[in-house]
Amino acid sequence: MKKLGFGCMRLPLLNKDDQTSIDLEQFKKMVDIFMKRGFTYYDTAYVYHNGRSEGALKEALVKRYPREAFTITDKMPMFIVNKEEDLERIFNEQLTRLGVDHFDYYWLHALNRTQYVKVQKMKAFEFIAQKKKEGKTVHIGFSFHDTPEVLKQILDDHPEVEYVQLQLNYLDWEDTDVRAKECYDVAVQHGKKVIVMEPVRGGKLATLPEESAEVLKKLDPQASPASWAIRYAASKEEVIMVLSGMSNIAQVEDNTSYMEDFKPLNEEEDKALYKAKELLKPYLSILCTACHYCTPGCPKKIAIPEYFEILSENQWNGRKKSQEAYQKLVDSGKGKASACIKCGQCEKACPQHLQIRKLLTEVVEKIEK
Ligand code: SF4
Ligand code: SF4
Repeated sequence: MKKLGFGCMRLPLLNKDDQTSIDLEQFKKMVDIFMKRGFTYYDTAYVYHNGRSEGALKEALVKRYPREAFTITDKMPMFIVNKEEDLERIFNEQLTRLGVDHFDYYWLHALNRTQYVKVQKMKAFEFIAQKKKEGKTVHIGFSFHDTPEVLKQILDDHPEVEYVQLQLNYLDWEDTDVRAKECYDVAVQHGKKVIVMEPVRGGKLATLPEESAEVLKKLDPQASPASWAIRYAASKEEVIMVLSGMSNIAQVEDNTSYMEDFKPLNEEEDKALYKAKELLKPYLSILCTACHYCTPGCPKKIAIPEYFEILSENQWNGRKKSQEAYQKLVDSGKGKASACIKCGQCEKACPQHLQIRKLLTEVVEKIEK
């Protein structure tokens, strides 16, 4: 398999403020380019696009290509599983949403210390192992957002797991909060292959501030910033797949162009990327990946990731432009940052462990006021 997977969490939208309004016609064209260039791996989940990603994939891919032509990964959303029976119900619903009789890969979604307690209680690993025995999935694994210590615990307890999906990118590799390198090392020590999510850090590494971009352009004027990020992740030896959440045809064209005949980064490229990263750091105040896990449960309908993006880019966009972007979202019906009632629901759902309430106060101070 080629090392690039199609992440179906940031599909093109007809209305950018409505995650369910997937632009199917554009998505079909994107799938066609992806398939034509020999890529086959698709990654979806129950919660992506507020539950519409799997159905869109059915329309754009499953109904239009023979089953053996593609591989699908889906995930059990442990964060909304409340009783053991939910596992079977959700699993079957996912097969129906996708219109397939089996998955190629099936993960427990976004495990962390808290979710792992629930996973044990609900016997979720036993559940997916049983599904593998029944032929309902070919491979099993889990995606993960926590410390290397928690990862070690899970892998020690569950040697039957075949793959681990980790957040890995050049920004997080040595980050002392995310500890991506340490997590990767734990997976490798346990003999697991790694699938990479967030190689472009929720799209943040696709657009770099000028001084960072210049360093990379000097070495290869044609290469996009995203290509550097994806090749970086794919260059790790035990990585078998890098997911990119593609949102338009241009991104598919670009990603497939350099991943069709993938070449790992050489020493000179590695050094340039390190330099670009160092120049980038001061600009990245908030490490939100725009996964949207925090938004469905917000009682005030606050556009948390969008506000964080505005806050992050405030440094190089300037206050006026930031305020315009903020006001546009408020006018479209999103709750203001100042409407936050500090209930904390969002922070429980955030895989990056961001202090969302505190950051929203900053949005109020720097943008809303
Ligand atoms: S703490 Fe604020 S932003 Fe978070 S869910 Fe509650 S109201 Fe929404
Ligand atoms: S704040 Fe956290 S949960 Fe919300 S979009 Fe950002 S990373 Fe995802």
